[in-house]
Amino acid sequence: MLRAPFVFPAFLEPLFPGALFRVPVDEPLLYLTFDDGPTPEVTPWVLDVLARYNARTVFFVVGEKVLHHPRLIQSVLEAGHRLGNHTFHHLNGWKTPLNDYLTDTEKAASALSPYINEAHPLFRPPYGRITPGQFRLLKQKYRIVLWKRLSLDYDPNIPVNKILHYFQKNIRPGDIIVFHDSRKSFPRLRQILPPLLEYWQRAGFRFENNF
Ligand SMILES: [Zn+2]
Repeated sequence: MLRAPFVFPAFLEPLFPGALFRVPVDEPLLYLTFDDGPTPEVTPWVLDVLARYNARTVFFVVGEKVLHHPRLIQSVLEAGHRLGNHTFHHLNGWKTPLNDYLTDTEKAASALSPYINEAHPLFRPPYGRITPGQFRLLKQKYRIVLWKRLSLDYDPNIPVNKILHYFQKNIRPGDIIVFHDSRKSFPRLRQILPPLLEYWQRAGFRFENNF
């Protein structure tokens, strides 16, 4: 399989009309997002790190895990972060029939209903893989958030230094950036998140979730 690039290819953006890749801002703001949690071994650590930088972020959570970790979800919200829907079973849209995909997403919405009260809740398709039909239907209810930059924290073949170097050189105000608060990503996340936050803060960036 081809390795995903750090940057979301611009030529693919028109396939997702109305989806959010970056936020148009005049200020030095970054929009950090954390997918695939909540994870008891990882998410509390992420919350601690984010708190040191007054960062407000979005967690795109897996519905199944939301049901298992209600207190963890509560602590994400209490820290000022936002929640988004990432399906119930972390489905790959390309491999899932339309109705199954919609049903699974609605199941996640039910799991999240005690916590989310937004007219257009946020949704991010796992792997960014969603068919045009799935996209069109979900867009009616959800604000679909993709990303501008992907940390590749889940890929053990990418040297940590390469990730750090990329994200020190290539960041732009308004970028939506993906990390993962998953067990798989944790060995790399713990090496990249604190130094990147430190670097970005020194460069004048703040971390917001109000898109
Ligand atoms: Zn995911």
